Amino acid sequence: MTAEPAHPRYPHLFAPLDLGFCTLRNRVLMGSMHTGLEDHARDFPKLAAYFAERAEGGVGLMVTGGFAPNVRGWLKPMSGTLSMPWQVPRHRRVTSAVHAHGARICLQILHAGRYGYHPLQVAPSAIKAPINPFTPKALGTGGVERQIRAFVRTARLARDAGYDGVEVMGSEGYLLNEFTAPRTNRRDDEWGGDATRRMRFAVEIVRRIRDACGPDFILIYRLSMLDLVDDGLAWDEVVQQAQAIEAAGATIINTGIGWHEARVPTIATSVPRAAFVDVTARLRPHVRVPLVATNRINMPDVAERVLASGAADMVSMARPLLADPQWVAKARAGRVDEINTCIACNQACLDHVFENRRASCLVNPRACHETELVYPPAPSPKRIAVVGAGVAGLACATVAAQRGHTVTLFEAADDIGGQFNLARRIPGKEEFDETVRYFRTRLERDRVELKLATRATPDMLHGFDDVVLATGVLPREVEFPGSSDPRVLRYDDVLAGRVAVGPRVAIVGAGGIGFDVAEFLAHEGVSPSLDTDAWRREWGVDTQYTDTRGGLRAPERPAAARAIWLLQRTPGKPGARLGKTTGWIHRASLKARGVQALGGVQYVGFDDAGLHVTVDGTPRTLEVDNIVLCAGQVSNNPLEAPLRAAGRAVHVIGGAELAAELDAKRAIAQGSRVAAAL
Ligand code: FAD
Ligand code: NAP
Ligand code: SF4
Repeated sequence: MTAEPAHPRYPHLFAPLDLGFCTLRNRVLMGSMHTGLEDHARDFPKLAAYFAERAEGGVGLMVTGGFAPNVRGWLKPMSGTLSMPWQVPRHRRVTSAVHAHGARICLQILHAGRYGYHPLQVAPSAIKAPINPFTPKALGTGGVERQIRAFVRTARLARDAGYDGVEVMGSEGYLLNEFTAPRTNRRDDEWGGDATRRMRFAVEIVRRIRDACGPDFILIYRLSMLDLVDDGLAWDEVVQQAQAIEAAGATIINTGIGWHEARVPTIATSVPRAAFVDVTARLRPHVRVPLVATNRINMPDVAERVLASGAADMVSMARPLLADPQWVAKARAGRVDEINTCIACNQACLDHVFENRRASCLVNPRACHETELVYPPAPSPKRIAVVGAGVAGLACATVAAQRGHTVTLFEAADDIGGQFNLARRIPGKEEFDETVRYFRTRLERDRVELKLATRATPDMLHGFDDVVLATGVLPREVEFPGSSDPRVLRYDDVLAGRVAVGPRVAIVGAGGIGFDVAEFLAHEGVSPSLDTDAWRREWGVDTQYTDTRGGLRAPERPAAARAIWLLQRTPGKPGARLGKTTGWIHRASLKARGVQALGGVQYVGFDDAGLHVTVDGTPRTLEVDNIVLCAGQVSNNPLEAPLRAAGRAVHVIGGAELAAELDAKRAIAQGSRVAAAL
């Protein structure tokens, strides 16, 4: 296979990779990502469409979400399993859809071990995971043998189903990783004890899959290169394991970073881009098989840099391909500005999976809904006005224009983005900038007429067939004695830099925005998300393995720019309603900066002495220079009533429709769905 014609900026990304028995068309591996479509036979046509779109978009090699080799290995009751021949035909739909577009696909075999959320779970030793209420049964010698045979059976069935290979999940704290690490393996038989015996389970699985499936079958091993937990692997054991896995017959070694129970963020938006690549680079000289780098690689320049540095031979991306199925094609053509970038928010992908909902993507609501949310050419193109260029209006305007409508977008501010222009100023949310950039490019490409610095009035909206109101939200006003004092500030004024904030501050309201404002006020200097070394020091990550096992070291407490109190009226610890997979990161980050978070607060008044409150009924005075109000929002929707009174066809979306529980996921999805139906 010759090199794909590619933009000269990305010579490494688009170099084919010769695996000896087959050649991958480029260096992009679509990493395994559980979508929820794996769990029911009825969803396989949707799963096939999801993969087909990304194969058509040019991905070289794909890996499915994890399939358990048996019920013991389930992630949750009835989760996707491949253990019986009658399950094979449904998988053929997936493999043939992918092969039709020239990509290759491997099935991931994932045995959840003690992370299985069910009472049948097993592990090397009966040690409960801190994130699971179930205690696993320790495997006997016969049980170990049965798990190995189950892996081999699944690999054989995968081959029958037309997969080009399998990925054996050996990281993230699942069963194989539990065998390799002293943290969870306290056995003293042939499957535990020293490093060689601890890794024997993994090595045996790889060796027997290779024997069973032959030499022309891709066998990826996902190896935990940085456990990020106490009593994880030492570096020499990582190297030893990689060499043993290579000798046992692996074709490719993929990087795994961090157990699910690790108290270090590994993929959230505040993690710097490519923050863990140097651990893959460290392994590079020790093995001959291709290595894959992972985690927070989301744009072609980052991917190219990783490959050009020699750190790895492929890059793995899962969420970035959820966000944009055409990622590879756009990179190849040098149309990087058109990439809909994954902002690593986890809100519609991982958070959904943890809530037992089908995954999707905040910036691309079509993800995993490819057969249901479609944007067909408009049967009769119309003239459409969209009012408000926040993300709801932007999504609506671009999808409507893509369908062939003539769209005019009115925006009162002098730039697009709405509240995203505030969100992107938060340290750790720099990625939100990419969404605004993406929409800016799309407006131009889709020829949306953009009227900036234009506050639409009913008069301006004559002559349009349909009007979409996406006028967003306004901060909720809060009244207590002293609340009209000029030292009481609005969050939008603070984030936009329109007002100065003193060294001691109380934040009224501890929702997502209260937490973000606390981050904003607690930081000074360069955001740790843009300074990998500073970020590693703060979270105690040691990719050099100098101190302890697992790549951990003592975290360094970051300097706090201010004394901050973060307050809510609801009793209990603030932050309980933050995202499932990211809330703990926000809480830990603020705690490290000394932010005092208080629940059960009533606001009594503000004067020169400070903010007078009661906390669970006890009076306190917080000596603060300023108060920042982050007390939620109300809809801003002044145009609907006059337009409806005039008999106009009006659609109201995003915060303008409903401020409660509004987030960008709902705003973008609603904007896209309304535009799909216009
Ligand atoms: P808005 O973003 O409010 O946009 C409305 C637009 O309409 C504005 O640009 C306004 O100028 C314009 N407008 C109003 N009236 C007129 C008029 N008459 N004519 C023309 N233009 C008009 N959400 C998440 O999902 N995840 C997050 O992590 C997250 N973080 C956030 C952090 C911060 C600091 C903030 C402030 C918000 C955050 N959000 C987050 C919320 C998210 O940004 C909003 O839910 C989303 O932007 C709402 O989009 P919208 O289009 O409905 O409204
Ligand atoms: P929010 O989550 O609804 O929080 C509002 C806060 O204000 C609550 O803490 C509430 O707590 C308090 N409050 C409400 N009414 C009040 C009043 N009258 N007086 C005093 N306090 C009052 O809203 P938000 O923080 O503005 O966030 C808006 C949306 O943006 C959210 O829905 C969120 O999903 C999204 N967002 C998400 C993220 C993220 O990381 N995922 C980040 C930022 C924003 P009490 O009622 O207990 O006082
Ligand atoms: Fe990325 Fe957020 Fe979409 Fe998940 S929901 S793929 S993290 S942008």
